[in-house]
Amino acid sequence: MYTTKTFKEAYKTKNTIDFSKTQAVMEIIQTVQEKGDAALFEYAKRFDGADITELEVPQSVIKEAYDTLDADLRAALEEARDNITVYQESIKWQQSPASELYQKIHPLNKVGIYVPGGKASYPSTVLMTAVLANVAGVKETIVVTPPQKTAINQATLAACYICDVTHVYQVGGAQAVAALAYGTETIPRVDKIVGPGNQYVALAKKLVYGDVGIDSIAGPSEIVVVVDETANNEWVAVDLLAQAEHDELARTFLVCDNEEKLAAIEAELLVQKAKQSRIQVIDESLKHNHFPILTSGKEENIEVVNLIAGEHVSIQTKDAEDYIDAIQTAGAIFIGEYSPEAIGDYVAGPSHVLPTGGNARFANGLSVNDFLRPNSVLNLKKETFRKMAPAGMLIATEESLQAHHDSLAVRMGGDK
Ligand code: NAD
Repeated sequence: MYTTKTFKEAYKTKNTIDFSKTQAVMEIIQTVQEKGDAALFEYAKRFDGADITELEVPQSVIKEAYDTLDADLRAALEEARDNITVYQESIKWQQSPASELYQKIHPLNKVGIYVPGGKASYPSTVLMTAVLANVAGVKETIVVTPPQKTAINQATLAACYICDVTHVYQVGGAQAVAALAYGTETIPRVDKIVGPGNQYVALAKKLVYGDVGIDSIAGPSEIVVVVDETANNEWVAVDLLAQAEHDELARTFLVCDNEEKLAAIEAELLVQKAKQSRIQVIDESLKHNHFPILTSGKEENIEVVNLIAGEHVSIQTKDAEDYIDAIQTAGAIFIGEYSPEAIGDYVAGPSHVLPTGGNARFANGLSVNDFLRPNSVLNLKKETFRKMAPAGMLIATEESLQAHHDSLAVRMGGDK
């Protein structure tokens, strides 16, 4: 158990990027640029053990996955899609009214969505990215997901169908990112690449940024749960496990100002852990990346939460709503015991693609607005121009940019 003081001394933000893989990932990117599709087939064999003959998943296969999916699961995916649509519509940037100075908003033309598929399948990630692109009005959404030894996960393909994804390609890792960034014979070059992935994917996104847009780079998941004596031990314990089961590197933080309560939830964690199916992953995660923190009260709770800048922050106290304004750094905030993080993972509406590892200090969770590109419009009247130009001419002179000065001066009609 930590106190606020010992936690602050022990806590370190984890690197999101593993730079030791830089050389390997650069080589993959260059090979895809040079050899195109041929490189993708070769990497499918080498890294995924998949002997594929086509990169694109035919539309008929995607439709069949939808048609044959369990009806209840299909309905659940569609319900999630509808909730995500409603929320994203509500936060979409609105066009400002046309005036002399204003902002125009355009959807991106073509986006690439990375849907992880190495160790597990993520139909929910299709929903949490592609629906946002649809709400933005993106013309083409292109999903890439690792090829499998047998077939690509059927629910992932069905989710692509439900979200009207334009093309699905079976390619994963750094080579998928390279293909989307530079294009190959089969895979089109996109304007922006979004979506989570492992270290190869994260590093490749960072390396191609500049030639293509990217969203934030997300690492292993994390949750900060703040509780008081009113919290339900079992519910909080399962919420922590829901994070720990993602990954051995997933981090869980339990923050409380009551020592007895903290100990009771820690004990409950062991009881609930025994019931879980992914117990090995959970064990590793809890052993190395679980932080119970005893604070002196609400002020320190807030201090710790803001210090961690966690991907998910869950407040399960009687005065939970009081925390909303005080939390400055979080990927997403879950208020009260009926807003568990897992509901946000799947169906609530905000995207589950969120900044991790303290990146909430500067990054935001994926939203419809990541698929929009605002540009400014200047449509000045003569009087407005004449009012602004003298200041501009002075600054241009200071910067020794004669033509800039003159471009304004000629319009002043000799009136300098
Ligand atoms: P992945 O699809 O990200 O990576 C698999 C690919 O990695 C393979 O196709 C292969 O090309 C490449 N690869 C594997 N070993 C390699 C090697 N030695 N050299 C070069 N390339 C190699 O799938 P994953 O590995 O299961 O990782 C998915 C990650 O995404 C997990 O960390 C998971 O927690 C995370 N995730 C995050 C969210 C979120 O919203 N934050 C959602 C879903 C998944």
